[in-house]
Amino acid sequence: MNITRAEHQRILVVFPHPDDESFVAAGTLAKYIEGGAEVTYACLTLGEMGRNMGIPPFASRVTLPGIRKEELTASSNAIGIQDLRMLGFHDKMIEFEDQQLLDNTVKALLKELNPSLVITFYPGYSVHPDHDATGAAVIRTISQLPVGERPLVHCNAFSSNHEQMIGKADVTVDVTAFLAKKMASIQAHRTQFQAAELVGNRELTDEEIRYRFGTEQFWTYRFD
Ligand SMILES: [Zn+2]
Repeated sequence: MNITRAEHQRILVVFPHPDDESFVAAGTLAKYIEGGAEVTYACLTLGEMGRNMGIPPFASRVTLPGIRKEELTASSNAIGIQDLRMLGFHDKMIEFEDQQLLDNTVKALLKELNPSLVITFYPGYSVHPDHDATGAAVIRTISQLPVGERPLVHCNAFSSNHEQMIGKADVTVDVTAFLAKKMASIQAHRTQFQAAELVGNRELTDEEIRYRFGTEQFWTYRFD
């Protein structure tokens, strides 16, 4: 399945960490936004427990939350996201949060925004416990809605066993036309991106960038 730019006009994105949006969905969101979509990004934490402080380090334990807030804002702006919500949950603690509180938070966003599409992580197949717990809260909350009122949910998965368990992604988005925005979003996370994205000590070539970042994949969640 491919996406068309104007397919969704109201989109809710729920991820736990600043920079999840960059790697998972920046190109897709930029594409939808160009097609007229209004995007709300609910970022559950500030990634304040992250180990990366920049290369060379320019953040400290004390300054990291503030710096990551600025990075998240810059990344969202690079993508064109109109509505960024920083929800203030604790980094690396989503799996231990009160589920009712998480679910009520998602429920309130759904009620307020009435999105036709929700983008999150596939619970169980997204490696980090915060990712899995975030996706689980979204799926739990939407599954409580009457079938006719449920938005479409596109999940990202990347655990090593995910294809065996849930098959291949049914949504592949070619984002090569939006790579400038995506790379700007990644690079906005200055404390994080050098550590994650430099190969050895050199910058990626354009071809490597297209190969590594040119498509984004999602699994449509099937509610039974
Ligand atoms: Zn993350």
